[in-house]
Amino acid sequence: MALGDDAIAPLRAALAVSPGNGPLRDLLIQTLVKFARWDEAETECRAALAERPDADSLKLQLAEIFLKQNKASAALVLCETLVKAREPLPAAYILYARLLFERGEVSTAVAMYKNGIEADPAVADTDLAKELGIGRTVDSDSFVVEGRERAGWNGPTSEPVADIERPKTTFADVGGMNTVKDEIGLKIILPLQQPELFKAYGKTAGGGILLYGPPGCGKTHMARATAGEIKSNFISIGINDVLDMWIGNSEKNLHAIFEQARENKPCVLFFDEVDALGGRRTDAVHSGGRNLINQFLAELDGIQQNNADLLILAATNAPWHVDPAFRRPGRFDRVLFIPPPDEPARREILEILLRGKPCETIDYAAIAAKTPEFSGADLSGLVNQAIEQKLREALSSIKQGAGGLKPLTTKDLLAVAKTVKPTTKEWFATARNYALYSNQGGAYDDVLKYLKL
Ligand code: ADP
Repeated sequence: MALGDDAIAPLRAALAVSPGNGPLRDLLIQTLVKFARWDEAETECRAALAERPDADSLKLQLAEIFLKQNKASAALVLCETLVKAREPLPAAYILYARLLFERGEVSTAVAMYKNGIEADPAVADTDLAKELGIGRTVDSDSFVVEGRERAGWNGPTSEPVADIERPKTTFADVGGMNTVKDEIGLKIILPLQQPELFKAYGKTAGGGILLYGPPGCGKTHMARATAGEIKSNFISIGINDVLDMWIGNSEKNLHAIFEQARENKPCVLFFDEVDALGGRRTDAVHSGGRNLINQFLAELDGIQQNNADLLILAATNAPWHVDPAFRRPGRFDRVLFIPPPDEPARREILEILLRGKPCETIDYAAIAAKTPEFSGADLSGLVNQAIEQKLREALSSIKQGAGGLKPLTTKDLLAVAKTVKPTTKEWFATARNYALYSNQGGAYDDVLKYLKL
């Protein structure tokens, strides 16, 4: 007699009488599992699935059986479908995490594990969590820390995935934005340059800054200037590129980007369009949207520990689509509104844009006064148009045998300003609604203030 026959034989007999009895077959499967009779358990599980093909709990059971039979690939395939379900079983994430970990895909495993315990803390597997280094600090002696392998691990090394810049622009090239400059100075530059001062007050560096506002108002420009200001490397990533170029492989590539930044410290890592991570577009096109968010969060949490050499900035034009989990402490705990430049800022921007260009003495204040609601990009467009106009005139005067290029004048710029419409209006039409009707925790108070509502 085989082990467990006492319990199993009566169940089989009963099932022979009523083969369609689902709960009875489930009991048989559990009993077979209990006695480690994996092959029979597999057969019964498949039979049950033939009757109830949509039962995720059965698929999970089968995946667990596969794992016991050392059929890891089969288990993995099943788990992949399970975590892509509309409402994945929390335990499926944990099993998936274990399988991924065994394959060496540690950071994805961490993200999956976190998905599981976020959905239901009861599915936590402390051994696995320990192996994955979840909740550990960089100082601990774990082999992995938050999913990142420590030195000596011979896993796949990351190939460069993003361009690394060494920006020449600094804060002096950014007009206005004084609050943002202060905030970045305090949160990013000071901890880097005066670590003792920072420590004396018991503050730790880390945590990113999320910039939001209408397009063209200098979010990217500011991020790049931050890198220039501290003479660090700069990596700029559009989340939509991550999604479009690497469909199905996004998590891995996101991890590779963070790795690359870590290998090129000091570095400012800038993510544009972070709303695309959690936006509806993501959900529709990539069912793995949630996974990518969790991967992103795991990476952020991982660098949080006193890592003053790797600075994270992010930007979005659609903050209302950004996952709220981003705003937790240590992640993007500063969320700053970047409004269109006010009059003094427009003045400064115009001065920056016209630096080194052939100009007469320009009445910057006059142009700033005539360009309300213009974004920095609009002003840049204005200057370019005025220059083109000048070049056209120069060309025709050369053709007529007269002298060449004439310097730009205030009049030229004002003439173009009349023909250009600011592009920020459209953004405020949308933002206004969110600020008025969906302003949880005063998230958009600055927008309301700007709109004088
Ligand atoms: P965003 O990231 O907010 O969409 P960008 O930073 O790409 O906007 O801005 C577009 C361009 O407009 C910049 O490359 C820069 O030339 C100009 N610009 C925008 N804001 C400023 C500013 N505050 N100071 C100087 N130039 C600016």
